[in-house]
Amino acid sequence: MKLLNDYLREKFGCKVYKLALNGGFTCPNRDGTLDMRGCIFCSAGGSGEFAESPNLSITEQIEEGKKRVEKKIKDGKYIAYFQAYTNTYGPVEKLRKLFKEAINHPDIVVLSIGTRPDCLPEDVLNLLGELNQIKPVWVELGLQTIHKKSADYIRRGYELPVYDRAVKELRKRNIEVITHVIIGLPGETTKDMEDTVRYVCSSGATGIKLQLLHILRNTDLATEYESGKISVLSEDEYIEILKRLTDIIPDNVIIHRLTGDGDKKILIAPMWSANKRHVINRINKEIK
Ligand code: SF4
Repeated sequence: MKLLNDYLREKFGCKVYKLALNGGFTCPNRDGTLDMRGCIFCSAGGSGEFAESPNLSITEQIEEGKKRVEKKIKDGKYIAYFQAYTNTYGPVEKLRKLFKEAINHPDIVVLSIGTRPDCLPEDVLNLLGELNQIKPVWVELGLQTIHKKSADYIRRGYELPVYDRAVKELRKRNIEVITHVIIGLPGETTKDMEDTVRYVCSSGATGIKLQLLHILRNTDLATEYESGKISVLSEDEYIEILKRLTDIIPDNVIIHRLTGDGDKKILIAPMWSANKRHVINRINKEIK
């Protein structure tokens, strides 16, 4: 099992922190192109609650983010993480300007871009390939599951071959691909989740993020939960599933996350996940 921190330390020789940035994007699953409602679990902030304000320039956001972690990090390096919404959903010239500003910052060692696999047209892929010559570019893809029933339930809005094509095109340009998988989607068995993780690990992805399903306020998933239609995993169930999943992940696929990262202010369930330190301690003891 290879975890992100170890990978970064090996690669850069120091602690590397992620700065969550906001390029002021929207998402085709929210602006009406595919849907108006967004993915069933997605909060109003487009899964970017920890990102800086889009009213600031990228350089200002980086400086703000650095100030936040300054006490914890001395002479460290940073990953510019475009997190909120779909960060390749825009004209290529807008993307070029934003991403170049981030990648050219002297303290940034990696440009990481969260997006959907159906938002990677040729010109954007080529731009990412070009930027990857300056500094490493990572692309984070929200796959969540390989199972059609679950993908329809969460309103993901694209089919599995779209993911396959995106990974292939990104890897062709030597870009690292980190695939997001949700643990605990309603109706999925442990075997379903294992199948998803196995698929991701053989898809060409270089990294994986395992994210516990969170029920966040003002989402359609919250309505489902509050009406008793769905339930969430208990802490013990989550740890057991994680053990099974981490056993499957080979060392050449870096594990970028093993815990959820929901904003406590809007978290409805599972509330045990809000005690991050406790969950991390259990993971350290029972899994790592
Ligand atoms: S693709 Fe991402 S930003 Fe868009 S609705 Fe789904 S989770 Fe939210």
